[in-house]
Amino acid sequence: MFGKEPIELPALSAQRRGPSAAVCASGHVLSWLVDPAVVEKYCAKCGDPILVACPNCNAMLPADEGMLQWVPFYGNCMSCGQAYPWKAAEIARAKRTLAEQAETEDWSEAVKARANELVDDIAADRATASGVAGALKWLALRGGEGATATLLDAVERFASAALKQALRPTFPGLF
Ligand SMILES: [Zn+2]
Ligand SMILES: [Zn+2]
Repeated sequence: MFGKEPIELPALSAQRRGPSAAVCASGHVLSWLVDPAVVEKYCAKCGDPILVACPNCNAMLPADEGMLQWVPFYGNCMSCGQAYPWKAAEIARAKRTLAEQAETEDWSEAVKARANELVDDIAADRATASGVAGALKWLALRGGEGATATLLDAVERFASAALKQALRPTFPGLF
């Protein structure tokens, strides 16, 4: 038996949906304005698949010049709220580094949890400058000083411009 969904040729449905941005899964922006029906399949820079729609809900990537500033400007899909793959990959990378540090530096569960929570807060633009500085001090006092470099790297990679600016006086020359 065939599925209940009407069968639709991908090229036709893409045409009907109008222009989109084209960004590879790692976040290289091919173009912020393409015809999704004729876009290249793979990124020339990294070889990842090129996306014209959210892999979670299939909403088109917005054809907006702002796409050129991919993280964090377009970090989450506005239709389903999930992080786009390029942002999800940055978050996963930061958490993997923290997990490795937790093991080699023998962090407590509380230190591990707080460091991961801070990554989520930075990614969701919930963190304040004083909150970040306070959390880094708290972590350092409990044997998690190794988290500082990883978390400041996370700030550089996916914090909002406002948070970076607010943190600059405390951590000069980093971002
Ligand atoms: Zn790429
Ligand atoms: Zn989505």
